[in-house]
Amino acid sequence: MSRETILRVQNVTKTFGGILALNRLSFEVGRGEVLGIIGPNGSGKTTVVNCITGFVRMTSGKVFFEDQDISGKPPHKIADMGVTRTFQVMRPYYSLPAYKNLVIPLFSPRARRTGGWRGGGKLGDRNTVGIDILEEIGFERDSFVPYKMASTLPTGYLKRLELARCLALQPEVILCDEVFSGLSMSEIASMVPLIERIQMDGITVVMIEHRLRELFRVANRIVVLNFGEKLMEGTPEEVMSDERVREAYFGSEEVEEVMTYA
Ligand code: ADP
Ligand code: MG
Repeated sequence: MSRETILRVQNVTKTFGGILALNRLSFEVGRGEVLGIIGPNGSGKTTVVNCITGFVRMTSGKVFFEDQDISGKPPHKIADMGVTRTFQVMRPYYSLPAYKNLVIPLFSPRARRTGGWRGGGKLGDRNTVGIDILEEIGFERDSFVPYKMASTLPTGYLKRLELARCLALQPEVILCDEVFSGLSMSEIASMVPLIERIQMDGITVVMIEHRLRELFRVANRIVVLNFGEKLMEGTPEEVMSDERVREAYFGSEEVEEVMTYA
C-alpha cells in the first residue's frame, strides 16, 4: 500500500564535536503509518527525533513536514504544526498532578485551532478534557491516579502521560522515543493497543524502539540505523530475515528472541 508522504528526512547529518551521530540519513514516513526506527545503542535514533522536532540543530540536510521545510525551526513552532514527541528520559511537570500536565497543550494555539480533543469543537473545561485523555490512555478515571503528583507516578504511568501530553496537542505526527523501555512485559502488552488506537485515529506514529518483538507487532515498516546511517528499511519480516541486521544486533540479548519470533 503506498501512502502519501507526511514527513521527509533528507540527507540529514549531525555531528557533535568529532562524533558523526547521523550521516546523510534519508527516509520518508507515510501519512497514517506506524514507522519503527531501530538500531543498536548510540546508532543515532534519539538524534533523529531531536533533529526532526527541532531540539537539536542539524549540521546539514533538511526535514519536510507536508512539503513544508521545517529544518531549523524551533520545537514550539514544529509542535504547533502538529509534529510532537515523547522523551526517552521523561519530562513531566513533576510538581503538578497528572491531569494538570495536559493543561498547557490543551490551551495551546494548536489545540484551539483544531477544535479541542477529538476535534469535537468542545474546548470545554480543560481539566475534564485532561482527565478524558488520561482515561483513554489508561489512567483509571474513578481512581486517585489522575490526581496524583506526577513525581509520585511509577514509570508505566509516566510513559502514558508522555503520550497523553502529545495527544492533547491534536497532533498529526507523534515521535515516540522508547515508550516501552523500563516497562514490564504486561505493561508493554497494554501499551500496544494504545499505539494501535492512535494510528486508527489517523495519527502518524514514528516509534524508536529497543523492544523489537512488540514493535514488530505494531509497525508497518522499519528503518534500521547503524552508526548514524540507514542500514536498510523494509517490512518487519524483511528486517527480521536480513543478515546485516542480525550482524548489527549480534550479541544483544534481543536478537535471538526476536529472530525466533519470526
Ligand atoms: P541512540 O538513541 O540510538 O542510542 P543517540 O542519538 O542518543 O543514539 O546518540 C548517537 C551518538 O551521538 C552517540 O555517539 C552519542 O554519544 C552522540 N550524542 C548524542 N547526543 C549528544 C550530545 N548532546 N552531545 C554529544 N554527543 C551526543
Ligand atoms: Mg536513544
